[in-house]
Amino acid sequence: MTAGSIVKTFGQWTASRPKKIVFGFSILFILLSAAPVVDTGSFPFPGKTVSDIITPVLMASPQIKTISGKIRKGETASSLLNDYMPLKTIYDIDKKARPVFPLTKLRRGQPYKISLLEDSFVAFEYEIDTNDRLLIRREADSYDISKLPIEYEIRQEVISVDIRSSLAEAVKRAGERTRLTWKLADIFAWDIDFIRDIRPGDAFEVLVEKRYKDGKFCGYADVKAAFFTNRGITYKAFLHENGQGRKSYFNEKGQSLEKAFLKAPLNYSRISSSFSNNRFHPILKKYRAHPGVDYAAPRNTPIKTVADGIIKSIYYSKTTGRQITIRHFSGYETAYFHMNKYAKGMKKGKKVTQGDVIGYVGKTGLATGYHLCFRMRKNGKPVNPLDQSPTAAKPVVREEMDQFAFLAGKYTQMIRAHQKLAQSD
Ligand SMILES: [Zn+2]
Repeated sequence: MTAGSIVKTFGQWTASRPKKIVFGFSILFILLSAAPVVDTGSFPFPGKTVSDIITPVLMASPQIKTISGKIRKGETASSLLNDYMPLKTIYDIDKKARPVFPLTKLRRGQPYKISLLEDSFVAFEYEIDTNDRLLIRREADSYDISKLPIEYEIRQEVISVDIRSSLAEAVKRAGERTRLTWKLADIFAWDIDFIRDIRPGDAFEVLVEKRYKDGKFCGYADVKAAFFTNRGITYKAFLHENGQGRKSYFNEKGQSLEKAFLKAPLNYSRISSSFSNNRFHPILKKYRAHPGVDYAAPRNTPIKTVADGIIKSIYYSKTTGRQITIRHFSGYETAYFHMNKYAKGMKKGKKVTQGDVIGYVGKTGLATGYHLCFRMRKNGKPVNPLDQSPTAAKPVVREEMDQFAFLAGKYTQMIRAHQKLAQSD
């Protein structure tokens, strides 16, 4: 592959569910305009045939009219539906919907669709989040209310890029979204420090599932496999879902990529001060220890706990500002200083899991610029976080190893097939 080349190929195309409907399930949510638009011809009942629902009426007229838009400020279920049904009916639907999804929870900006047949109400559909939708359907004299998964077309795609300056730049050059940068950084967070370790000539290849609806990209699903070449070493990651349904990444030998500590507690711009037992203090004009690492980063950059643990203390001090100390395994403790604010729900005694956001970068206490002062102690003694050699989490269990090896082989083939194509270009 030549330097800076970007190649994408489509892997197999898989639909989330066989489509049985005649007109195709199409939610044409207009993303740019908040104004409702009228779209005729689509039919909103996945899993049903047209005749299941409206054969008698359909014979008279096949015209299903669809009004779609995004919930605007102040819009409610009643303001959306009262053109099509009496308030009493809306009230009944509201009551019935409560255990499924309360209509009072409609959120501004979320897409919805109203389907009409001969101007009478057939269905209301609302996207609760990126995974689920609420569907209210008229069935004779009653209404059926259900929460269903949003159906996406999943396409597996291989993306391969050489890195010139940063991972973010490479992802952008490949025409991909920032979210993919985060996903990759998370996968390799234990092995690669994406600021300190990246060199020109590094490269990555990723097999990622993308969600599409009506041909429109709707975000990333799982990264199935990723190869990351950093300073001549290729790190491989394969997604494996274990018997308990937990998904995590393993190398080709089935060893976990997850280590005891993350390489860094945040995505930072640079290390502004390193760990030292004896540094010359520019203001105090004397030697003083700096038993931590200062990471310069923009205000409100999320700070993550580098390992599982329990919050030992959380308080404000005049020197260290808003700070959290976490107690981990084997006598380790980490501390995070100068936070602008804490993440929601942080309190003494709370259990945290590696990678959880615990707060946001600030400059509270004695700090001149926005940064995180990160400290680590082992058995009460300060240690350099950048020197800790972490131990890995558990490998793929023996009973699941065959399945893992099969999938890892398949993903590797898909990535290799793509590489060959790139070379023959
Ligand atoms: Zn510091």
